[in-house]
Amino acid sequence: MIKSKNLHKKYGNLEVLKGVDLSIDKGEVVSIVGPSGAGKTTLLQLLGTLDRPSNHNYELVINQTDLKNLSNNDLSDFRNKNIGFIFQFHQLLPEFTALENVAIPAYIAGLPKKEADLKAKEILELLGLRERLFHKPAKLSGGEQQRVAVARALINNPAVIMADEPSGNLDSENAKQLHKLFFDLRDRFEQTFIIVTHNEELAEMSDRKLMMKDGLIIN
Ligand code: ADP
Repeated sequence: MIKSKNLHKKYGNLEVLKGVDLSIDKGEVVSIVGPSGAGKTTLLQLLGTLDRPSNHNYELVINQTDLKNLSNNDLSDFRNKNIGFIFQFHQLLPEFTALENVAIPAYIAGLPKKEADLKAKEILELLGLRERLFHKPAKLSGGEQQRVAVARALINNPAVIMADEPSGNLDSENAKQLHKLFFDLRDRFEQTFIIVTHNEELAEMSDRKLMMKDGLIIN
């Protein structure tokens, strides 16, 4: 599902990634752990096509698509259709309702509004937010906001979900529920998850735990 070889990233003189090789199967839940500054978020950004490697002699294939030679426009399109993102801070748009926040990536993908809204409603209901469809983010609890962000990540049926400290801002009960949700989704839809986390419980639950240190995966 995801294969990378020799990913390097430099910021000025600082070499943040030093040649990362990775291979992740469809339906795997993989966590990336390691000390702060190890390069975890940078790696996730490259895998998520939000940024490109600094070198040219690398490989990056996701869902059978070779991403290396895609134009920025094609890359955005690929990202919109294939990858769902969940961040530590949900980054919902404050002036839109839960339903609208979830539907927006589907509008961008070209789904007619009616269909997108219906799909957003179904996903929110699946995540236990039936009573919250028309609430704006400020009227939702932290756990609810994060579930809306998960719904938003799911709406275009992405093959891969990438999450950066998804439970970093939640209390332990809400964190547990969110983690359980990831595994339910994997079981149901066979989505592949890559999760950067400091949460030991989540890291231990995952199928595979990758440890990063000084810009490399060390196990
Ligand atoms: P982690 O997620 O493991 O904490 P990061 O990938 O966020 O690590 O950061 C790795 C290193 O790269 C850090 O030293 C960080 O300061 C640096 N870094 C990250 N992004 C940038 C950037 N846009 N410009 C300059 N330095 C950056």
